[in-house]
Amino acid sequence: CGIIGILGRHEVSPQLVDGLRRLEYRGYDSAGVATIDDSGRLDRRRAVGKLVNLSDRLVHEPLRGHSGIGHTRWATHGAANEVNAHPHKSGPVAVVHNGIIENFRELRDELIARGIHPESQTDTETVALLTASFLDQGMAPVDAARATLTRLQGAFALAFLFEGETDLMIAARRGSPLAIGHGDGEMFIGSDAVALAPFTDQITYLDDGDHAVLTRGDVAVFDRNEQPVIRHMARIDVGA
Ligand code: GLU
Repeated sequence: CGIIGILGRHEVSPQLVDGLRRLEYRGYDSAGVATIDDSGRLDRRRAVGKLVNLSDRLVHEPLRGHSGIGHTRWATHGAANEVNAHPHKSGPVAVVHNGIIENFRELRDELIARGIHPESQTDTETVALLTASFLDQGMAPVDAARATLTRLQGAFALAFLFEGETDLMIAARRGSPLAIGHGDGEMFIGSDAVALAPFTDQITYLDDGDHAVLTRGDVAVFDRNEQPVIRHMARIDVGA
């Protein structure tokens, strides 16, 4: 229901929770964050219920790192439990998702036929599994995410992180909003610019069908035909 992503300069998990708190008004049943620490290790924490359950867990089981994604979930496919909470992870890929992958049953059957078994009941996990399977075939992260996006039907906003990649995030939208926030040597994404208010007011909205390849210093946006495009940046004052 809400997404945030940060390629930052500070410990990112408290910032992710702070951003998610600003999206609480949208409603949610569970929440989670994934980070990549400075050695490139990808890990996640998830909790059912209020954000405070997630932040409590992070006190006892901290997540280090300067790159991360976070999510508040409003379940559409699969019960509101921890296994179904985002971020979904498959091997070296973590994914957060707003919306619905309409053809997930088909994709899941295809994966199962290849011996790849989901652990959750969500539509979202198929995105992580599919991307990981493309990486397994030797694709680079950006290509694996693109190959995945071409297989998806439905309405979604997505963000991807990759183990070993401390300065890379991929974001995509079709039907659901997604904003990019430009910081000073930092880059942010959010399902709503409100989530980014503590960090930056320099916002670029992706157009429908766009995906973006982000590093701390640069954003490259591509349209639905994978052609590079320029999207306007504006100062959005939503109040920090
Ligand atoms: N369809 C996904 C799920 O049920 C995402 C829901 C959302 O937008 O929070 O996990």
